[in-house]
Amino acid sequence: MSVATATASTAHTDATPAVCAPLPVLGRDVTVPLVTGGEVGYAALDYAASAPALQRVWDDVAAYAPYYGSVHRGAGYLSQLSTDLFENARRTVGEFLGCRDTDQVVFTRSTTDSLNLLAHALPAGCQVFVFETEHHAALLPWQGAEVTCLDAPRSPRQAVETLERALADRDSHGPALVCVTGASNVTGELWPVRELAAAAHAHGARIVLDAAQLAPHHPVSVRDLDVDWVAFSGHKLYAPFGSGVLAGRADWLRAAEPYLAGGGASRTVTRRADGGVDVEWHETAARHEAGSPNVIGAYAIASACKALTEAGLDTLAARERHLIGTVTAGLAEVPGARVLSLFGEDAPRVGVISFVIEGWNSSHFAAALSAEYGIGVRDGLFCAHPLVRTLLGADADSPGDCGAQEAAPHAIRVSFGAGTPDEHVERFVNAVRELVREGAKWRYRTENGRCVPAV
Ligand code: PLP
Repeated sequence: MSVATATASTAHTDATPAVCAPLPVLGRDVTVPLVTGGEVGYAALDYAASAPALQRVWDDVAAYAPYYGSVHRGAGYLSQLSTDLFENARRTVGEFLGCRDTDQVVFTRSTTDSLNLLAHALPAGCQVFVFETEHHAALLPWQGAEVTCLDAPRSPRQAVETLERALADRDSHGPALVCVTGASNVTGELWPVRELAAAAHAHGARIVLDAAQLAPHHPVSVRDLDVDWVAFSGHKLYAPFGSGVLAGRADWLRAAEPYLAGGGASRTVTRRADGGVDVEWHETAARHEAGSPNVIGAYAIASACKALTEAGLDTLAARERHLIGTVTAGLAEVPGARVLSLFGEDAPRVGVISFVIEGWNSSHFAAALSAEYGIGVRDGLFCAHPLVRTLLGADADSPGDCGAQEAAPHAIRVSFGAGTPDEHVERFVNAVRELVREGAKWRYRTENGRCVPAV
């Protein structure tokens, strides 16, 4: 299923039972202390920040670890094995992303790193178009180029129209790049990637998809979506070993100076008679992977890609819709709760839901969920300050005093995925209800701008 069909099939609340069991992840048996006494199983509901490692990924990494060796630089058996593993990981990721034969898959540290690499590779005079709704990782790397920041659209159609207008208005016919998210890290809403790609191409621009929040939840195909590049992070894809990916067209990457200069990126280096140094750089992905590659990180991502493919991303997405239905239906019954949305409450989304509760400071609420219920969510502006400010319609600079009965200028985000048991989201919904009905049982104070239990 592509993003477009996911859009159609998630447009309603799915009240049917979960269609498969959660995938085993690390940490599922961890218990945490409650301020009110006793311990409870930790409900990790902050997948959008970092998802727990899949057990399968952990097992694969553990099985490989004794064979660990250098990549691309050793004659020994283990070096050769590790080099093979690294290059196979590249192929697996390329298949997972439905890459074209001519595409390059570059291993980076994260989505942020991937998008900064692409920013580094922009051709001279390139214009960049981004919506104000982007995560800072997609909003900020283009500062060296001419950037047009587009207003937050209120529907997928408006997103496409806004982009089309901006591209049609551009006064140059030079290179242009559109950077767009597949699923928002604030609202979880799916963006019309295929349509935006078509609009970009129709106006001679290229497009990079920030799939940091999309790839863990939905199939992503570079070919089907017709995007030029895609970026994502291992730690959000159940493979938290410090790697990310930039995959896509080779030409801009090949034409750019290496992202980092050093061994691995260079094919030959010679000393000139005048004392200088001449370098011939690789033209493959290695050009932008100088230094010793993170083979464990790359292997872990490939392992996650295989595990998700075998489990069936469509099946996992159907299960996630069930969890989304539980959370949205639960929040709809809580007095004063408002789910943040750009495209409307029925808009299809991944398991990322931000909300505010009238009369509650969001940091206070999130602290109480953690301290009194063992539930880990996130509060704040989620590295998407312009978007959250737009959605809250408020000056969101100050989180306000802990416990103050005032409008919440920050939001609370609950997020989940392939490893989340039903019990975690059910406990979350019950905890929200109870907190709003009865208030916090503990006292909290503000420390460094955050609410913490006053003990
Ligand atoms: N893009 C989106 C949509 C994100 O949600 C995030 C992180 O939350 C990023 C980019 C940046 O990812 P990373 O911190 O792994 O570089």
